[in-house]
Amino acid sequence: MLELHEGDRTMAGLLGGKGAGLAEMSRLGLPVPPGFVVTTEACRAWLSGDGEPDGLWGQIEAAMVDLERRSGLRFGDPAAPLLVSVRSGARFSMPGMMETVLDVGMNDAVAAALVERGEARFAWDSYRRLVQMYGRTVLGVAGALFDDQLTLLRHETGAATDADLDAATLERLTAGFRRLVVERTGEDLPQDPGEQLHRAVIAVFASWNGERARLYRAHEGIADDLGTAVNVVQMVFGNRGERSGSGVCFTRDPVSGAPGVFGDYLPDAQGEDVVSGSRSPMDLSELARREPALHAELSTHLRTLEEHYRDLCDVEFTVERGRLWILQTRLGKRSPAAAFRIAVELVDEGVIDLDEALTRVDGTQLQTLLHPTFATSDGLVPLAHGLAASPGAAHGRLVFDAATAMAWTALGREVVLARPETSPDDFGGLLAARAVITSRGGLTSHAAVVARGLGLTCVTGVEGLVVDPAARVATLPGGVTLPEGTVVSVDGTTGELYAGQREVEPSAVSAAVSEGASPGAVADRTVRAVLTLLAHADLRRHLGVMANAETPEEARAARRFGAEGIGLCRTEHMLLGERRVLVERIVTDDDRAGALAEIEALALTEFTSLLEVMEGLPVVVRLLDPPLHEFLPDLVELSVAAAVAAERGTLDATLERRLSATRRWHESNPMLGLRGVRLLTVLPQIVDAQVRALAEATVALRVAGHDVRPELMVPLVADVAELTAARGRMEAIVADVAEAHHTSLRLPIGVMVELPRAALTASALAEHADFFSFGTNDLTQTSWGMSRDDAEANFLAVYREAGIVATDPFRTLDEAGVGALVAMAARDGRRARPGLGLGACGEHAGDPASIGFFARTGLDYLSCSPPRIPVVRLEAGRQAV
Ligand code: PEP
Ligand code: MG
Repeated sequence: MLELHEGDRTMAGLLGGKGAGLAEMSRLGLPVPPGFVVTTEACRAWLSGDGEPDGLWGQIEAAMVDLERRSGLRFGDPAAPLLVSVRSGARFSMPGMMETVLDVGMNDAVAAALVERGEARFAWDSYRRLVQMYGRTVLGVAGALFDDQLTLLRHETGAATDADLDAATLERLTAGFRRLVVERTGEDLPQDPGEQLHRAVIAVFASWNGERARLYRAHEGIADDLGTAVNVVQMVFGNRGERSGSGVCFTRDPVSGAPGVFGDYLPDAQGEDVVSGSRSPMDLSELARREPALHAELSTHLRTLEEHYRDLCDVEFTVERGRLWILQTRLGKRSPAAAFRIAVELVDEGVIDLDEALTRVDGTQLQTLLHPTFATSDGLVPLAHGLAASPGAAHGRLVFDAATAMAWTALGREVVLARPETSPDDFGGLLAARAVITSRGGLTSHAAVVARGLGLTCVTGVEGLVVDPAARVATLPGGVTLPEGTVVSVDGTTGELYAGQREVEPSAVSAAVSEGASPGAVADRTVRAVLTLLAHADLRRHLGVMANAETPEEARAARRFGAEGIGLCRTEHMLLGERRVLVERIVTDDDRAGALAEIEALALTEFTSLLEVMEGLPVVVRLLDPPLHEFLPDLVELSVAAAVAAERGTLDATLERRLSATRRWHESNPMLGLRGVRLLTVLPQIVDAQVRALAEATVALRVAGHDVRPELMVPLVADVAELTAARGRMEAIVADVAEAHHTSLRLPIGVMVELPRAALTASALAEHADFFSFGTNDLTQTSWGMSRDDAEANFLAVYREAGIVATDPFRTLDEAGVGALVAMAARDGRRARPGLGLGACGEHAGDPASIGFFARTGLDYLSCSPPRIPVVRLEAGRQAV
């Protein structure tokens, strides 16, 4: 237990983020209501199943006595009632994912005394809120049942919003809520404030393990065993008439990053009314007009906070009868565009340096900014306008609830989730959707905040939109109806909604990065910031960034994005499609020499253009890798064709040969079959042709004065003997070509480490390899023994849901298993051959969350698809500061 004035912001582990923020603000002398924090330690003890920690309640009682002293009020005393809020607050922000109970301490006696003193409306409004939150959080009554009663009463009384309900109606509502609670649970709201408080604290502990909290933690990678703190703070009341209210604000614009205070204020309301979006708030500039002194005081506190935290802060505040209280602060969630802009403008303002700015952004945010936007020139008229809550552009089929969003996405459809407003219960739907639109709510509404964090396109408060989830239809003024499944396009940057599927355009950031624009020459503040931080990341990073590219177009894109070479040129594309017959002819011995000559000629042309594009930079050519069966006809189809032909008497020798070869090479498990280096051993001619073509291309280009730097790489090696055999064969071919041209030529030869056995025997491999490239796709597949093609659909999604795996191991490197193999092979390889080159080229090499591991493991470079190169550059830089 800690009193707020005893803590500070370094204590987030113990006090939770909210508690630490309150403590820090108390120290700064900001007007924070008094309170105390039940620490995460107590919650962890409770979560461990040993029940309530010894003495917890006694400590809470003692803290309440102190709180009474400091507030001058008494808990449960109708003459001077102290009411408290009981709020969750974990170490890492989990907005709206856990529970809160407000107005604890209210009961019949307190309400009666307040009514007596002429505060009937306030009394019943507070009382009904307590019954509603306590009923839902502590007693488990479905929240929608309370909402239904509220909606019904609003209709009955003709009130447009909750604020229009009068005291008598609120009294009726309180009674109705209490009846509901009794009907559903068999118990009434306890009248003893102590019991209310005690049970509310335990309910907040329990909400750590609520479903949406677990889902959120799994998505955000937050550990499950941290527990939440519980903040018990004196209530201050925004619902105490005209000169009261609640607001949420930011020290800068969290959408664009522009400087200047920004936020929403709702008169005569409590905090959750602002966030839930059930009434549309006013802009802070309106507050400045109505209450200039208050606005000035708020602005001063916001400046103090931003100067203190040296970053964008988000603040919740309440005004009670003209007096300002700050209830919460934390580092503000911001859109990816704002994150870059704010970080670099803080550097411009001399608040932080570039190294620190680099730590304030991440590769995932950059990935969002590299997303396309809608083409601007198509002159379409939007269907509707709303608030540009989270930038981006997306289209999809309209759905009206989270469950449908998830179900349709699982079927491979792109969806746009439309809701009246969202709540934390919609989180799964937000994760699944391409965009979210709401008919109500402002820029600080739940939908807006969550979407910005996820980098999800979002428009809130769409004017005139009426969403009817039950009827599965939305309507717009003018008789426009949008049934479920209607394709719409959402522009989160302008806040517009369009009918149909709009054409998209690459992002401005992506264009500027690929043009190599200099930051000083760019007007857009976010683009300028991205370029500035990418340049700084390039100065700092130790990891090289290469591309997985196989065509000249891809290679050009890779260079534009800043690739320092090609780390993986998969050569199979040269032989797939129509060219598959060339491999088939080799297998069936149908003019084998002719087919090989064609393969070599094709390879010569393609290698030549690729090397030309990548002049001056390394190009790692990987020998043919896929299972042979991918080049052969389907066995069943061919068998049927042969049977039909036999029946008709038209079965010829060619078809027979094809059938017998296809049968001969058929495999039940081709990914563990005849592929990679094994192909080179069993059918060496194809690989010989590839190596000869690469050597010929190199010699010809060098003779013509080009600086080309090809390397060779052998896939799917399990044993050193495979590598030495392959190496010997390749070196002989290269030597032959060199000799024929009266020159010398040496091509570095590396090995892909993509089987556990390769990692386990890395020292032996290193003696015969110039470099290792970790093929983490196959290494994940073979370490886990799960197919990279089928696992997701068949069981990985279920595993994630059940919490068996936190993230998809094919997307984010599994450090404990696959990572251990990578680290061991890197260490053993370098021991056996100091200076051994080390890279990675699986999907993980372009995954922002995996790059830290590769950097710590001491790899020299990462190789990823061209559009991800800026992301890797940035992340690699972040890892180095
Ligand atoms: C890998 O396995 O990680 C790899 C890069 O090779 P491929 O994806 O082509 O199997
Ligand atoms: Mg592989």
